[in-house]
Amino acid sequence: MSFPSQTIFRFAPSPNGLLHLGHAYSALYTDHWAKALGGTFLLRIEDIDIARCRPEFVDAVFVDLQWLGLEWPEPVRVQSAHFDDYRAAADRLKSKGLLYPCFCTRAEIRAAGDGRTDPDGAPIYPGTCRHLSGGERLEKLEAGVPVQWRLDMGQALDRKKEFLIREAMPDPSCAVVERLAEPGRWGDVLIVRKDTPTSYHLSVVVDDAIQGITHVTRGMDLYASSDIHVVLQELMGLPSPVYTHHRLIVGEDAEKLSKSRGSESLAGLRALGITPEDIRARLGF
Ligand code: GLU
Repeated sequence: MSFPSQTIFRFAPSPNGLLHLGHAYSALYTDHWAKALGGTFLLRIEDIDIARCRPEFVDAVFVDLQWLGLEWPEPVRVQSAHFDDYRAAADRLKSKGLLYPCFCTRAEIRAAGDGRTDPDGAPIYPGTCRHLSGGERLEKLEAGVPVQWRLDMGQALDRKKEFLIREAMPDPSCAVVERLAEPGRWGDVLIVRKDTPTSYHLSVVVDDAIQGITHVTRGMDLYASSDIHVVLQELMGLPSPVYTHHRLIVGEDAEKLSKSRGSESLAGLRALGITPEDIRARLGF
C-alpha cells in the first residue's frame, strides 16, 4: 500500500488548560512528519467541551505554538463554530438506525454494569436504553429527560465483518501496515453527549474528513480510540486517514503529563527562561 502523495497533518489540542511538554512533543512530531513528507501542518482547536474550554487557553495555544516556531495556514478550524456539522453527521447516523437515545446517569450505568470496562477504564454501557420501546423513548424525550445518543455497536459490527486501521511506521520508510480494529471492546459508545451536541469521537472523525486529513499523528493515549474512529468513518462513508500514535512524554515521577495534574506548562517554562531551542533539544527535534 502506498502513502498518499498529498499529505495533510493536524495538531488538535483541547483548550481546557495550558499546553505542556507532552503537547509540545505532539505538535513538533506532527510538524516534523509534515515537513519530511512535504505535507501541510494544520492546527485545529477542539473546544466542544464548553464548560471546561476557555478563550484564554485558546489564545495560549497560539502563543505557545508560535513561540515553538510552528506555522500553519489560516483559518484555523475551531470546533465550537461547527456544531451544525456534527448535528448533521449525528442525524445521518440516526436515520440509519445506528444511534439510540440513552437517558441513563453515570451512577445508573455504574450500578447496572457487570464490572467490565472499556480501554479508557470507564464502565461498558450495560445496554439499558437499547431495550426501550419506541413509546418509552418518546415519552422520555417529550418529558425533557436529558438525553445522550449512543452507537449501537452490535448493529455497526453487523454491517461489516472487519474494520481495519491503516498505520504508518514512524520511520523514513513511512510504510503503511493494516491492523484489525477491536471496536467491540468499547461497547455502545457515546456519540452525542448530554451537555454538547457532539462528542470527541464524532467531531474528530467529521473534522478529519472535512479538512482532508490524510495522516493523524497523536499520542498513544488515543491508540484505542482509533477503533471507534474507523467504524464511524465506515458508517458515514468517510475516508480513513493513516494513523501514527507516538510515545507519551512522562514527568519525573514517570506519570503521563496532564493538565489536570498541573504538569509544568510551556508558559511556565518560558517564564523560567527556557527557550524553544531547549524544548526542541529536550524532546529530540
Ligand atoms: N483534542 C484531543 C486532545 O487534546 C486530541 C484529538 C486527536 O488528536 O485525535 O487530546
